Amino acid sequence: MKRDIRSLTYDELNNEIISLGLPKFRAKQIFEWLHKFGVDSFDEMSNISKDLRARLSESFFISTCEIEQKLVSKIDGTVKYLFRLHDGEYLESVIMEYKHGYTICVSSQVGCKMGCTFCASTLAGFKRNLEAGEIEAQLHAAQKDLNIRISNIVLMGIGEPLDNYDNVLSFIRNVNNENGLNISMRNISLSTCGIVPKIRDLMNEELPITLTISLHAPNDEIRSRTMPVNNKWGVDEILSVCREYIAKTNRRVSFEYTLINNVNDSDKCALELSKKLKGMLCHVNLIPVNDVAERGNVKSSIDRIHKFEQILKNNSINATIRRTLGSDINASCGQLRRKRGGVIENRC
Ligand code: SAH
Repeated sequence: MKRDIRSLTYDELNNEIISLGLPKFRAKQIFEWLHKFGVDSFDEMSNISKDLRARLSESFFISTCEIEQKLVSKIDGTVKYLFRLHDGEYLESVIMEYKHGYTICVSSQVGCKMGCTFCASTLAGFKRNLEAGEIEAQLHAAQKDLNIRISNIVLMGIGEPLDNYDNVLSFIRNVNNENGLNISMRNISLSTCGIVPKIRDLMNEELPITLTISLHAPNDEIRSRTMPVNNKWGVDEILSVCREYIAKTNRRVSFEYTLINNVNDSDKCALELSKKLKGMLCHVNLIPVNDVAERGNVKSSIDRIHKFEQILKNNSINATIRRTLGSDINASCGQLRRKRGGVIENRC
């Protein structure tokens, strides 16, 4: 079976090139075509001989993302893509423009196993992990389509990145490689629902990326109601590994806190959260929950969100309310794939 050449790290590609009896500089050339220029076929590699291109295509293919659907927000220009993969599966990515440049929110899996009750990503079921090259192909497809250069990456799309650890790590190393997109690790955020042993593995890699934890509740009683993963690793265990992470990497940890009306948005929750995070090098991102028809999510009122933020700040916790982008195109992930998945299911 052919392998995806864009999923190989620089060192792995180097080894493949050496095993083909080729000089090392070929690995650099091919890596640049795949990762800096984001080509979708071997034929575009114009400084590689026809013969070598043919040899490469005997063992490898190049993962691509074909645009199946594209939505552009009339409010703020946020772009949301539904991409089709080589095996007919779908994934979603969102491009947001900030003052500091373009950020992409990438998917790490086709679907998700985590089952958070407010999230759309789980609805169409889990299909498979994405290869490192497929995670990266989302950047190349968007850059080409929009004629832009992406400077920041958030692993906050469909899927749980730490449930696809090795591929996500290869992806991070490849986009950071100076012969590729050369995106600084400091411009990469990885968001997790809290898979504690994998957070510890990530900590030991000592990468200067930003770790983001989807916390959404100050205690196990509330968190387990919305996030089944909490039955395995509870709030205190997550906060404890975060303290280890901060001590080891000296990097601030971010907490995502999605506010859901009457579930996790009371003054009591804000006070309890403040107590638990006291003294920690961290930041809390407050997010009004997005509507997902089947989920029946009910947003907290703006006043409630501001009050929650104020309580955290009064207790010396760094907190901001996230600006909502792409609200007219349902920019939160999981919704397009689910609709598309529905069509396919009907056909079968
Ligand atoms: N699995 C990872 C990353 C993907 S989800 C994680 O859990 O962090 C990215 C973020 O969006 C998470 O913080 C998730 O909890 C949040 N999210 C999911 N559905 C949402 C919704 N309907 N409204 C607001 N945030 C949501």
